[in-house]
Amino acid sequence: MEKTNYSGMTLNERLFAAGILDEFDAAIDEKSRERVVELLGAVEVDNPHGIANSLLGPAYECWFCGEGIEQNGRQALAIGLSDLWSDQCDEPPTQIIYAHFDCAQKRMEGSSMALEQDVLFPSVPDT
Ligand SMILES: [Zn+2]
Repeated sequence: MEKTNYSGMTLNERLFAAGILDEFDAAIDEKSRERVVELLGAVEVDNPHGIANSLLGPAYECWFCGEGIEQNGRQALAIGLSDLWSDQCDEPPTQIIYAHFDCAQKRMEGSSMALEQDVLFPSVPDT
């Protein structure tokens, strides 16, 4: 199969050339971010997640893998970061980061502590 050269083509031209324009429009209508990103990747855009965000509105993005976080997808975390020794005890300035649970679990493994899935997602039975 000959590889299409997408350089110099607009997004719509790329999708049309690849024969997935209708599929792409349907994915947009369904707000299926994962599918949109996949189709964008198929036509070699530079930043499929960024384009998906601009088409579908801002989404939660995983701090670790950079992929979008779907509400009904993988388990996900909001992690609040603040200065432990802040003198604003009640409400210290906080940065919230979002992450897939499994990404966070992998990347935030401590020397003697671990994320507690059973505490964070109490309805999930132990495996
Ligand atoms: Zn992730």
